[in-house]
Parts: sequence; structure tokens; C-alpha cells
Amino acid sequence: MIAKRIDVLSESLTIAITTLAREMKANGQDVLSFSAGEPDFGTPDVIKNAAIEAIKEGNSTYTAVPGTPEVLKAIQTKLKNENNLKYDVTDIITNVGAKHSLFNIFQVLLNSGDEVIIPAPYWVTYPEIVKYSDGVPVYIETSDESEFKITPKQLKNAITNKTKALVLNTPSNPTGSVYTKEELEGLAEVLKGTDIIVLSDEMYEKILFDGLKFTSVASISDDMFKRTITINGLSKSVAMTGWRFGYMATPMKEITAAVKKLQSQSTSNINAITQKASIPALLGEANNDIEMMRKEFEKRRDIAIEMFNAIEGLSVVKPSGAFYLYVNFKQITNDSVEFCKKLLAEKGVATVPGIGFGAEGYLRFSFATDQKSIIEGINRIEDFVKNYK
Ligand code: PMP
Ligand code: GLU
Repeated sequence: MIAKRIDVLSESLTIAITTLAREMKANGQDVLSFSAGEPDFGTPDVIKNAAIEAIKEGNSTYTAVPGTPEVLKAIQTKLKNENNLKYDVTDIITNVGAKHSLFNIFQVLLNSGDEVIIPAPYWVTYPEIVKYSDGVPVYIETSDESEFKITPKQLKNAITNKTKALVLNTPSNPTGSVYTKEELEGLAEVLKGTDIIVLSDEMYEKILFDGLKFTSVASISDDMFKRTITINGLSKSVAMTGWRFGYMATPMKEITAAVKKLQSQSTSNINAITQKASIPALLGEANNDIEMMRKEFEKRRDIAIEMFNAIEGLSVVKPSGAFYLYVNFKQITNDSVEFCKKLLAEKGVATVPGIGFGAEGYLRFSFATDQKSIIEGINRIEDFVKNYK
């Protein structure tokens, strides 16, 4: 009954586990969830108020497919001021979350057999959408030793005459790794002279630790600007996951034209109220809230990392951004599904098995939850590990 094309897709493991943990909690079970990939803070008031205003003003009609002129201008200003990227407003398209940006992009880019290079561990969704779009994911394996970052040499070796695109996600979900400007320059050098398109997923750009500064890969050089699609959104930076606001920007006119065409026949524009409400966030009016959240994430990271690394059999590379720890338990077992299932059943601790992110022997622990739960959760994990059978 169902079309073959859907068979290649697996359900999102991150969403599946978060939903399961939520259901267990609703049934009265003692569950601590570290599976969610969303901030535990509320959306800042300045954004909520802008939405209320937008409703009162009567923004109830369709907008242009890529977004209203005001929201596109706000994104243009943000990208120029914060990321040193000078896009035309016509280079920018808003989408129903960055997941939708990625979906649109792969749908319009890939022909059957086109390869997309994806550094592993990766966010669960990339390979799925690539496969759904008839493309072939090509993984570059990384390890704790390289802080889960790829090297120029690895990139060079992964390129074939079928390579269409490279996905870069910094700060990374699930490892929290952040590429420095110099590291990005090294990768950019390898791409010179090729027609490989770079998808730069910058969702976690605002959640950076230890005083690090963010570099957009498209700002490295004119060559990189021309070949890059910058993807971002407001889900993580201003706690707007449910509002569904993502965007993409690229000077490659063929790509923006194709995405606009596809979107005009699928979702049309994104929610008009969300567009209005996003403008203050894009223009920096929620910066105090962003800094408050960032600081709190950094505190939690420090608490969690110290506790985890004190547990025998576990190790974690200190993340420089995002709100995840990618916990290595290879000394105990490589079977992440079994490990995480037992952890949930025996201790009521929900985490995401590393297999979903393309690296076995790990789990992803989201610290987008309060400090008390983090401490209690890691204590339970310690107990679990001590008695692991
Ligand atoms: N990129 C990364 C790396 C993510 O973790 C997520 C998950 N939220 C997204 C993109 C998509 O986010 P959204 O669709 O909420 O904008
Ligand atoms: N990106 C988040 C995560 O990794 C949200 C869930 C999803 O979209 O997969 O958990």
C-alpha cells in the first residue's frame, strides 16, 4: 500500500526516545530524560510579545513563499552583522525549521547516486534525508582522539567524482565539537577547484563555551561563500523548537529558485506569526536571554563532564558547544541500543544510543535539563555501570 520511497527512511531515533520517555513519565514512572534535543527554557518574552502583537494586528494571510520582506531583511542583517556574510535578500528562504531547509536542499540537489559526505558521528537526520532524496551518504569516521573532527586529508580521501556535497555541523550534534577558523580553512583548501557544495548547519552557533568565537564557513573566503548554503534557525538559540523557524541562504541562484519552487508546492510560506515574532530575536533583542541560557549550559556541562569522567569505564570528550555529551562506554560494551534500553528500564534514565548517530559504543546525553536532574541522572548511570551485566 505504501510507496517504496518511504522504505528507505528510518524514524528519527531522537524523537522516538524523547516521545517514549515523555509517555513513561505521563504514566507516573520515575523517568529522567536526557534525550531531548531542545532547550528546557521558555521562549524569551520579547519574542512572545511580538507574536501576540502579530496576532492582534491580524497577520492571518499567506506571505510570500520565502518569507515576508521584513523577516528576510532581518535575516540578512543578522548574517551580515554576526556572521560577516553578505547575502541579497533574494538569497534567503525561511523554512519550517532547519530540518525542512535540509529536506528542501537535498530534494532539489541530488540525483540518483550522488554522494554526500557526512562526518560521523552525525545528527540522525542527515543520512535519512540524503537517502530519501536518492543520494548516497558517505561517512568520514572520527574518534575521541580527534575530538570528532575531520581532517583535510580525510576529506580529500572521501571525495570521488560523484561527490555532490559536504555537510558541516559546527557546533556538532551529538558531540559538541567546534571547528576553529584555521581548521575550517584547512577543509576549504581541499574543496578549492571542485564543484562540491557545502551545507553549513549552524543551529548551535550561539551555544559556545570557554570564550570561543563562532566562524561561519562561508565567511572564510570568496570561494567558500560561493559554494556554501548556510543553514540556521531559532530552535536552539532562543528556545523556539515548537515555533518552527529555520532558514537557508546561498548566492547559488539555481538552488534558491528550485527550493522556492518546491516549497511553493509543499508548505508554501512558514507560519506568518512566527515570521513576525522572529524579527526581534534576529535583530539581537533577545541577546540577554541567549547569554543567560548559554551560561547555564556551560555550568551544566562542567558539572556533568566532571561526574562522567570520574566513573570507571566511561569517558567523555569535553564539548566546546551545543548541549550534548557523547559518552564513550566502549570499555563496557559496544551495543548502544542494549545499553540504553537497559539503562531506561532499570534506572529510568533516557538517553539516545550512539548507533543513531553512526558511532557505536556511545550514548548521547543532553544537558538541556536542570542541574538537579543531571546530578541525579549521572548518579543513576554510575550505579548502572557498576553493576552492568
Ligand atoms: N540541525 C541540527 C544539528 C539539529 O540538531 C537540529 C535539531 N533540532 C536541526 C538542524 C533542526 O532543527 P529545527 O528543525 O528545529 O530548526
Ligand atoms: N535535533 C534534536 C535532536 O537531535 C531534536 C529532535 C530531532 O529533530 O531529531 O534531538
